[in-house]
Parts: sequence; structure tokens; C-alpha cells
Amino acid sequence: MTERLYYRDSFLYNFDAKVQSAIETPRPALILDRTAFYPTSGGQIHDTGWIVSPTGKLRVTEVADAEDGRVVHYLEAPVKDVQPGSRVTGEIDAARRRDHMQQHSAQHVLSAAFVRLFNMPTVSFHMANDYCSIDLDAPSLSKEQIESAERTANEVMIENREVDVRYVTRDEAVNLGLRKLPPAERDQLRLIDIRDWDLTACGGTHVSHTGQIGGILLRKSEKVRQGYRVEFVAGQRAVATAHRDFSALTETAALFSAGIYDVPQQTRKALDELRSMRKQREQSQEELAQAHASTLLAETPESNGRKLVVRTLSDRDLNFLKLLARRLTRQSSEAIALLATTSPQPALVFAQSAGQPYDMGVLLKETAAKLGGRGGGSKDLAQGGVPRSEGLAEAVAAAAEKLAL
Ligand SMILES: [Zn+2]
Repeated sequence: MTERLYYRDSFLYNFDAKVQSAIETPRPALILDRTAFYPTSGGQIHDTGWIVSPTGKLRVTEVADAEDGRVVHYLEAPVKDVQPGSRVTGEIDAARRRDHMQQHSAQHVLSAAFVRLFNMPTVSFHMANDYCSIDLDAPSLSKEQIESAERTANEVMIENREVDVRYVTRDEAVNLGLRKLPPAERDQLRLIDIRDWDLTACGGTHVSHTGQIGGILLRKSEKVRQGYRVEFVAGQRAVATAHRDFSALTETAALFSAGIYDVPQQTRKALDELRSMRKQREQSQEELAQAHASTLLAETPESNGRKLVVRTLSDRDLNFLKLLARRLTRQSSEAIALLATTSPQPALVFAQSAGQPYDMGVLLKETAAKLGGRGGGSKDLAQGGVPRSEGLAEAVAAAAEKLAL
């Protein structure tokens, strides 16, 4: 078992230890007799830092709990000349540890606030590199409840309450009214006592006074399977996150030449305009297709009781080709339309008026395949895309030849 120095002192960033074993595969790692490095557990992510031996400084990139109670320090580079029994010193990345202590301690304060205010217990805690979250066992969660819990948690931080660590037996713990009693595994429990606010069992690293958390900012909340997930950031993270939010909002506001608080209204207005312009465009396209179809039908001579319209257009999208094909085959009962466009995306649409004898699906599939593209459809209407516009007009002409009108 590795002796865990962080249990006694969360602010211990430098320590001496003796190497127990050096591991080379599958990843280089060191096991020490004692450590202040926190391994990923209980929702809190691991520390990073350095282990300094007489032969060099080794970067610790990950720390994990082994099943036998030992703490494994994974290293960036292979261990050289570090023998079991040699003395090393450990240096924790203090900024990262302080951030973790702020997030984790903020979670205790916040979870207690949700229990005290609304009787909503926390069922899980998650810490990521950019934000943290708790899952609340709650049937519903309002904006007002979130704001109220946030305000209360921040007040507890301003009050700078003491955070104590003490050990009790399981039997003693049962009568203490813990917020959360862990599953019965150990006889001894480590309690985190935020004076007159929260008492719970936890093995993580915490601040010594709630003022050190700095503050908490609640962000997204969403319905999850067992209740509600609430995302939060605390301490310097809260400041960094507020900065990021402000930058994004400022950039967006500049696009509208508006103030940041006008962004929602400006965005709604722009989206309304976009919707209305889309509608107008659709209508214009319809009208254009109708006029285009009339012209094409008028200028196409009838042959054996059919009108074969073969056209390769440019600057028309697949949608317009479909509109045009539909118009041609509806405005005339004897139309066969073999249409293509070279840009913006090379595409094909083949169609025939209802009752005509060909199979447009088969014809289009063959034509598209010749050009390395794909497509298909029904007997009367088919569409497809090809990778390049070269040879498209020729391929459509060849398809027309096949029909042998
Ligand atoms: Zn904790």
C-alpha cells in the first residue's frame, strides 16, 4: 500500500519518497512508498507534476490507483537508472491541484445547498478539464432553483467557513447524519466537514477554508435519466469561462454591429429575415422553372408523339433541375426530360410524363455510373450526382440516343 500524504495535507506540493519499483511496459511508471500525487478517483481527476531522481527529472502525466492499494505514477518518458530503494522527490503541479481543490470543494458546498434548499441529493459528480457537473436526483429543476442554489453556495464561500478532515468508524458515522454514506467497504471513514454546512465522506483533496474556492458559476442544466445534470465552474475556472463567454458574445455582437445584450433580439430578427428570403427564393424558383418549362416545350418539336428535352445547364442546383423536370412532365403528357447541371454541383435529373414507356431510374443509373457517379429513382423520375462536369453533356446526349425515338 502506498502511504497517501494528500489525506493529511491537500496543500503539500513537495515530498520525499523511496522508489518501490520501476515499470517499463506497457507504459513507464514508478511506484513509491508514499506520495502526495492524487490518483483519479471519486469523480476527481489526477494530479500531474514531476518526480526528481539523482539522474533526472521525470514528468508525471497520469496517476492511477492499482487494485492492491498502490498508487501508480505514469511517466512521459522511460525511467533510466532509477533503482528500487533510491530516494526521489515529488513535485505536484500546484496550479492544477489548486484548480481541482476549488472544483471539488465547490461541489461539496453546492451539493449541500441543493439538499438544504430543495431536498435534492447529488447522485454523481464528474470533473473534466474544462467544466464539472453533478447529477441531482430531482423530478424537476427550475431556473429560479438553480439561481438560488448558486447564490447560497457563493454566500457559503464568502463566509469563509473552515473545512476540517477527520476520521471516524463506520458505526460512529451512522449517527452523524452524513450527507452521503459510502458503501460498506472500509471500517474507517474520512469525513470532510464544512463547518455547520456539510458533512460527508470523501477521499479527495479540498481547500481548508471555503473562501479559497473563490466563487462558483452554474451553467448548463439538462434532464438526464435519473434526474438533472448541472454544470458548474469554480475559482479561476469561473473567471476564465466568463471571459470566454464574453469574447464569443462580443464577436457575435460585432457581426450585428450591436451591443452584447441585443444579440438574442438581433439573431431572432436575422433568422426571421432568412426564413422569409428562403420562402421568396423558393417561390421565384418555382416561377422560373414554370416559365423555363413552357419555353422548352414550345421550342421542342414533337417526334413520334413525344417531346424529348435534353439540356445541360450551369449555375443551377439539383433542386432546380427537379422543379424543371416536374414542370416539363406535368405541363405536357408527352415529355421526356434529360437534364443536367455542371455547377455548383454536377448532377442529373431524368423524368418522363406519366404513362410514357421508358425507365428513367435504369437510364440514369447507367449514365451516372459511366461518369463515376451514383443515382437512381423510379420509372418516371430519377436523380444522381457525378464527381466532375467533364463529359456530362456528352453522356446526357448518349442517353438520349439510347431512347431511339
Ligand atoms: Zn470531496
